[in-house]
Amino acid sequence: MLFKDIVGHIELKNRLITTTLNKRISHAQLFMGAEGSEKLALAIAYAQFIACNNKQTLDSQSDLIADSCGVCPSCIKYQKLAHPDLHFAFPVAGTKNFPTKPISNNFITEWREALLESNFYLSAPEWYKKIGIENKQGNISVNTANSIIKTLGISAYEGNYKVMIIWLIEKMNRDSIPKILKILEEPPEKTLFILITEEPNNILKTITSRTQLVKLKPLDNKSIENFLKNNFNYDSQTIESMVNVADGNFKNILPIIANEKQLNPNFEIFRNMMLFAYGRQFAKMRKISDETGKIGRENIKQLFLYGLKVSRMCNYQSLNNYELVKANGAELDFIQKFSKFVNNNNIDEISKVLNEAVYHISRNVNTKIVIMDTLLKISGILYHKK
Ligand SMILES: [Zn+2]
Repeated sequence: MLFKDIVGHIELKNRLITTTLNKRISHAQLFMGAEGSEKLALAIAYAQFIACNNKQTLDSQSDLIADSCGVCPSCIKYQKLAHPDLHFAFPVAGTKNFPTKPISNNFITEWREALLESNFYLSAPEWYKKIGIENKQGNISVNTANSIIKTLGISAYEGNYKVMIIWLIEKMNRDSIPKILKILEEPPEKTLFILITEEPNNILKTITSRTQLVKLKPLDNKSIENFLKNNFNYDSQTIESMVNVADGNFKNILPIIANEKQLNPNFEIFRNMMLFAYGRQFAKMRKISDETGKIGRENIKQLFLYGLKVSRMCNYQSLNNYELVKANGAELDFIQKFSKFVNNNNIDEISKVLNEAVYHISRNVNTKIVIMDTLLKISGILYHKK
């Protein structure tokens, strides 16, 4: 999880980044925010940033001062939530597999899944449902508290910070709290506690007095709008209605974004295909045909159908029918530029070639050959246009 992939909270992110860069990491912090807010995402992005071996300083174009690299071995492990120095504690209750004295770690596989599936917007009811305890009250038990202390007693695997994220500290039962107070106050060297809460009024003063408060402000519409503009290809009307649907809660528009994410890879591939075809770069056409040939017939079909849609929008653009050009960002930029080459003069021919490609892909013809053949035909059409 990179900071840049989380909506809003620019000021808070930069504060976390600056204190890390200045090596002034407070060892126990209490992240406080409403249900459905970005607490877990920020906690994990923060921990990933601290551990990143190749922190990237960003230029003045970016809102953020720096971010994790996303590609170093530490970041790769973080992206799977499988870094050996990243630990979690969270409420659980007895289940069929763990009927007595369950601890958080018994459910770590489900926990990682739940975080990734929910895009880090997990709520307590969703979590209880995930592990089949929706009719019970989950809590962070004495046994979990003992396991926290034991885990942190072992030195860090990679010589860096050990991070313990305790999700919903308000669910820690009264007997467990005294156990962790000492370690909160005098933690082993290079230990970071991130406690997360949605109900600050239900936390004992003994906890709050030992932690630094990190309060998440509610998301404002402008933050949501900027995030959508910078990261997706929606037109401005769609963004406006998504901001309304979100109503201050980004979780509300995750299903819409999930659809968009499926489109994005198609954009990159199709754009490159068209650029290579236009430039008559045959080696690159062959390479992209070989690579794309492996993504599965259904995906290739979707790619060409997407290509048909983009080609039609190029034509609308060339005819000044702007209201029919439903695109934004990089996609719109491409359509504007490419409408010089794909337009009313050749849209019929290009549509025919792409439709044939869809047909052949459905008919079990060798995918790489169909793709290469399609690119050669498009290259020929664009060449005649020049
Ligand atoms: Zn990294």
